[in-house]
Amino acid sequence: MQYESTLEFARAQDAADPLRAYRDRFYFPSLGTSELVYFTGHSLGLQPKTVRAAVELELDEWANYGVEGHFHSTNPWYSYHELLTPPMAEIVGAKESEVVCMNSLTTNIHLLFVSFYRPTETRYKIISEAKMFPSDRYLLETQAQFHGFDPDDAIIEVAPRDGETLIREEDILEAIAANADELALVFFGGVNYFTGQLFNLPRLTEAAHAVGAIAGFDLAHAVGNVPLALHDWDIDFAAWCSYKYLNSSPGNVGGIFVHERHGRSFDLPRFGGWWGHDKATRFQMKNGFQPMEGAEGWQLSNAPILGMAAMKASLEVFADAGMPALRAKSEKLTGYLEYTIDTLAAEFPDADISLITPRNPEQRGCQISMDVAGRERKLFDDMIAAGIIADFREPCVIRMAPVPLYNSFEDVFTFGRVMRKLLAQGER
Ligand SMILES: *Cc1c(COP(=O)(O)O)cnc(C)c1O
Repeated sequence: MQYESTLEFARAQDAADPLRAYRDRFYFPSLGTSELVYFTGHSLGLQPKTVRAAVELELDEWANYGVEGHFHSTNPWYSYHELLTPPMAEIVGAKESEVVCMNSLTTNIHLLFVSFYRPTETRYKIISEAKMFPSDRYLLETQAQFHGFDPDDAIIEVAPRDGETLIREEDILEAIAANADELALVFFGGVNYFTGQLFNLPRLTEAAHAVGAIAGFDLAHAVGNVPLALHDWDIDFAAWCSYKYLNSSPGNVGGIFVHERHGRSFDLPRFGGWWGHDKATRFQMKNGFQPMEGAEGWQLSNAPILGMAAMKASLEVFADAGMPALRAKSEKLTGYLEYTIDTLAAEFPDADISLITPRNPEQRGCQISMDVAGRERKLFDDMIAAGIIADFREPCVIRMAPVPLYNSFEDVFTFGRVMRKLLAQGER
């Protein structure tokens, strides 16, 4: 695609965008700046305008029905989580029996590790990416310790080569092959939160399986961002949160995927709770845990309805737009941001701006991470003050996500115009 740094070009793209009407279905924050560009859907998605009514409905039902709402409200709470399953399964490319929404992300990965990280004396290692999201790294360390292993020995981090910022797939595959006999698990992020690098999940899964290891993924930055086909890719398990690209509200419930080949593996160790118990006998309240078939058998507790009501509304927006259309726009929009940053980098060589996200659209989602070594934190603070809402990570990386549901080409143009001014000021 041929991009141009002009307002006319940006507006023409927006006018031709089949998803342009979706922007109006979200609230944009007003942070006291004259204009605002929201590029932080990678951390917290914006609020769909339909969320409030969905939550208020459940508040009314609670007021009107009390406990009877479990069975007699408009969307009975007893089975409320089941309403989220079809749209969620569609987004991650799974069968409905393979997906359930519950708990929060880190909690869910721990629960899945109970079943899928079962190290033995000889096969106990986990291969993951260097610079993982800290919560995942702490999770791996404490899981290794819980099983009596030294994290430094049990966790193998695949890092970028010296002088590089991205992890080479061949290096991951080599690490898997080199540890073939000791490897219990390959556990990666789908999209790395820092660099925005999208890993080849089917390739990593295939390589893990070839050496007899399990493949699991944290899809926090992948879900709702890139097309996923978890079932067909034969992934063993995965988990994600819903408040980033899925716009379901701060800290809301996450989702899990367990491949159907494990769905009837009742001998797998797991931590039990009544919501994972066979529905037919749940209310007999008897001893003896009998897990449900499929992903639902990993549930513990009855569902938090207010959060799930918000999520139901946000997933409806996703279902309307559809991942294929979102991805098609996303590639163009992120390509425009890439072009804009390249243009700025060429105009202001002293600012030492560079992109660390892969340039190949197949190896990234919507996020672009920009290294601003020449200007450091000051540039970021100026961006925020000027209404460009992005995110700063030490030592000098600014992460930005133009989200196809609610960001526009004009947003990207505005970013470029504001940056040009800030960079020109910095030169004086
Ligand atoms: C956002 C994110 C988390 C956050 O975990 P919570 O349990 O929801 O607080 C964990 N891992 C990754 C990779 C993330 O991007």
